[in-house]
Amino acid sequence: MSVPPPDGDSSPLSSERAGNLSAIEAMDLALVEAQAALAHDDVPVGAVVLHQGEVIAARHNERELNNDPIAHAEVLALQDAAAHLGQWRLDECTMYVTLEPCAMCAGAAVNARLGRIVFGADDPKAGAVISQYQLLVGDRLNHRVEVSSGIGAELSAEMLRSFFRKRRRPS
Ligand SMILES: [Zn+2]
Repeated sequence: MSVPPPDGDSSPLSSERAGNLSAIEAMDLALVEAQAALAHDDVPVGAVVLHQGEVIAARHNERELNNDPIAHAEVLALQDAAAHLGQWRLDECTMYVTLEPCAMCAGAAVNARLGRIVFGADDPKAGAVISQYQLLVGDRLNHRVEVSSGIGAELSAEMLRSFFRKRRRPS
């Protein structure tokens, strides 16, 4: 359910403070974003980026909304965060995202030199952090992103299950 950070720190995330917000509070904001994607029939995934404890980006999946294949919550949030800070390098930022990032988003995190990712639910089919690929761990890439997971996983997974149930059986 979780990947230990590379430094071997095993302190429980639930008690960790993400600056002004706890990790749970930050993931709650990401879950609120995920919920907002439902308004335009997008897969409910949300992401927020924190810098020094301040939320500097909060986005959700807009692929359907904008017919944009790369408009995943993580990509949009990284772009907003970079615009906010006036720099593409996000090594002092943490992204909270409700679902394990795909290969594109994990790649975007590496290219942003993102400091840390905390994701909620695993994505066994497309996850590129622990499930299908492990793009953020190991030494193959020149930047390593710290990874934690599991916070808000149940809520996130239930939102996704409900979305795909309804999509299979339109009422
Ligand atoms: Zn993605």
